[in-house]
Amino acid sequence: MGKPFLPQLVYIEPRALDYPLGRQLKEKFQQMGVELRETTSHNQVRNLPGENHFQKYRMAKSTLVVGVRQTLKFDTSKPSAEYAIPLATGCMGHCHYCYLQTTMGSKPYIRTYVNTEEIFAAAAAYMSERAPEFTRFEASCTSDIVGVDHLTHALKQAIEYFGRSEFGQLRFVTKFAHVDHLLDAEHKGRTRFRFSINDDYIIKYFEPGTSRLAERLEAAVKVAEADYPLGFIVAPIYLHEGWKEGYRELFERLEATLPAHAKRNVTIEMIQHRFTLPAKRVIEKNYPMTKLELDETKRKWKWGRYGIGKYIYQDEEQEEMKTTLGGYIKRYLPEAHIEYFT
Ligand code: SF4
Repeated sequence: MGKPFLPQLVYIEPRALDYPLGRQLKEKFQQMGVELRETTSHNQVRNLPGENHFQKYRMAKSTLVVGVRQTLKFDTSKPSAEYAIPLATGCMGHCHYCYLQTTMGSKPYIRTYVNTEEIFAAAAAYMSERAPEFTRFEASCTSDIVGVDHLTHALKQAIEYFGRSEFGQLRFVTKFAHVDHLLDAEHKGRTRFRFSINDDYIIKYFEPGTSRLAERLEAAVKVAEADYPLGFIVAPIYLHEGWKEGYRELFERLEATLPAHAKRNVTIEMIQHRFTLPAKRVIEKNYPMTKLELDETKRKWKWGRYGIGKYIYQDEEQEEMKTTLGGYIKRYLPEAHIEYFT
């Protein structure tokens, strides 16, 4: 299995040491011999090593900042949940198409927040506003939280927190297979553990630095055996030569790998590839050799959040994706629940 993430460099905000998790992490990284530096704010990490943009960007992706989350107002997170719960920001993966490329802008380093109790208290306030309706929280809006959680266990704390809560549910998605420490968490069925999956071509060419499909599926089986509700996000659905065959193989592998009980309660979300022009510029800068096709003249333009237009597939292509993948789901995972295609 690919190795779990180990940062090359760790920055700590002095205020983080007021929290038990901040102190534990400092000690842990000291013992591991990782270089530690101080930063006044997790939003202002400067002087990352590297002689040019390319080197600095790669260094940032292996840098972890241990900080205190100050904004405790949660973003909304449609369509998969009501709110985004901020446990971490940034990711060590190098997926060429990743939307964090643009949202992280000049701060591609990974931030983890140690004031988990304050974050949970904010979640409790959101839950009580909606009670007795359940409130769903998405933990992977701004990071691949599982990829860093073997070091911090903040996600594990959150899983157990929502397990104890009266009206809360947690969900997150990952491309990493390092799930062992989460298997004994007392989730009480309140956390939906999702894996982001794709066909071989896409994982091979566009998702460096993440666990391979076989590893993700092996982890999904462990998660199902630990009785977590399981889900998959097929994203981004990307048209390339042989895509129909590639996705057929993907669903065939799911059918062959998953235990019967997991197939009955599994959810599937489908997200087609999209990009904005600012994202295109950043991708071309960070991954200049990418094979990712970003030709806006072939796509359909759609209004996006914050007024930035995004390029999605043409209507007929979207229909073809929906019927092709929908057909495979019906054939290979007939009891799966399709949550949405977007
Ligand atoms: Fe982005 Fe997810 Fe890839 Fe991380 S694993 S780089 S969050 S797409």
